Amino acid sequence: MPAAERKLRVCVIGTGAAGLCALRHLATEPAVFEFEAFEQTDHIGGTWVYNESIGVDAKNQLPIHSSMYESLRTNLPSVIMNFPDWRKMGNGEKSCISHSEVLSYLEDYTNHFDLRKYITFNTSVETVQPICSVRCTDPATLVTSSVANRRIWKIKIKNVLNRTVVEREFDAVFCCNGHFFEPNVPPIPGIQRFPGIVMHSHDYRKPHPFTGKTILVLGAASSGADIGIELTGYARHVYLSHNNPRLISALPANMTEVMGVTGVEGNRFILKDGTSLFADAFLYCTGYKYSFPFLDETCGITVDDNYVHPLYRHMINVEHPTMCFVGIPLVVVPFPMFHIQVQYFIASLKGNVRLPSKDIMLQDALCKSPLKRRAHRLADNQWEYNDGLARDGGFEPLPPFYKAGYSAWKIQRSRNLMHYKDAKFVIDDDGESVQIIPNDNT
Ligand code: FAD
Repeated sequence: MPAAERKLRVCVIGTGAAGLCALRHLATEPAVFEFEAFEQTDHIGGTWVYNESIGVDAKNQLPIHSSMYESLRTNLPSVIMNFPDWRKMGNGEKSCISHSEVLSYLEDYTNHFDLRKYITFNTSVETVQPICSVRCTDPATLVTSSVANRRIWKIKIKNVLNRTVVEREFDAVFCCNGHFFEPNVPPIPGIQRFPGIVMHSHDYRKPHPFTGKTILVLGAASSGADIGIELTGYARHVYLSHNNPRLISALPANMTEVMGVTGVEGNRFILKDGTSLFADAFLYCTGYKYSFPFLDETCGITVDDNYVHPLYRHMINVEHPTMCFVGIPLVVVPFPMFHIQVQYFIASLKGNVRLPSKDIMLQDALCKSPLKRRAHRLADNQWEYNDGLARDGGFEPLPPFYKAGYSAWKIQRSRNLMHYKDAKFVIDDDGESVQIIPNDNT
């Protein structure tokens, strides 16, 4: 094969749902791509691999990646979590499933598409560096450019068991290292002297250590609300601290919603409205920080208050467009979005999509929200985002039931935060609309 036609070498970092999705689509183009994934653990599945331990993993001495807790059930109906080309998860009877059922689904996906052969386990990516110091090649010219002109990426990988390090070179990089492993811990004056249990939800596994305690849970997004409600079955009292209007319509007798926290003196937490309360356990459910510890600064990516910059369409590195990040958008249905993002990046590598000029991409990468930490929050805009990528990339958009299901589920959740997961979720025969059938609780 002439040098210019040599296959493109693509590296995938991580084999959670995003990395697996990248492998699945790269594998459809064996004549174009030569690819492999590096996974620091000995498993596929990323955050869905429940680990009872916290802190450092005894097997590989790495910080534990997963943030799953034992009782976790998905907060989305599993039917809309499916990748569109592998719709095996969930049925109408049981809408929200356990973490182990999601992991089984990802294992089935891996086996069905025969992806294991592309993965090197127990191998962490240590550094990623563009070999050139200037902007890397426009992806659209990659396939036709000579190997020498491809501005190859230099990637240092480490075998985490025997600690050997080797260097490899690739033409393009998928960063699929996950975004829910680096706890966001906002400063709270006095917390260092608080005498009770202090924990972040990343380390929460089971409710038992909190039995009989009075707990202040800070944050009421998915994890805060979920864990707070679970703890009411064990604690003396649970205070759910957040700055939103009242979230839960029928609170359990031992739960109270309170304002945000401004500080703590001994066991007494001071709230934003000037009141205070006693607690002997404190749980940060304050989310996570994007973290790419392996990126050399010459990659050109910065993270400022969870704004990852500069990314074209929340995914492509504007400085070096042969690098993409899968899964940055927040408040989305992740797996189907991965399916779309991955295909768009592949289309750009194949030259089927021509990326705009750097100036236009930089304009797109600007934060459109007054708060940087909301720069990647898509929520209801996720459907327009997905459809736009599919349209421009020339591939199938998501079937309409994803959007219909997400919208209906959002209403279901807001109506009954305590029991919304127990409703049945059914896609109508037309494949477009959905029905949510409440049960006795919901
Ligand atoms: P991850 O699953 O985190 O995978 C990243 C992988 O990269 C890991 O295997 C990790 O070991 C590996 N890795 C990291 N760094 C390196 C490195 N340097 N070298 C090599 N490998 C590396 N989504 C839903 O759709 N529904 C839900 O109900 C839902 N509930 C959730 C509940 C919790 C508590 C959390 C934390 C998340 C939840 N999510 C849910 C979101 C979930 O994170 C995504 O659905 C999705 O699984 C993320 O996949 P990922 O591949 O981006 O990341």
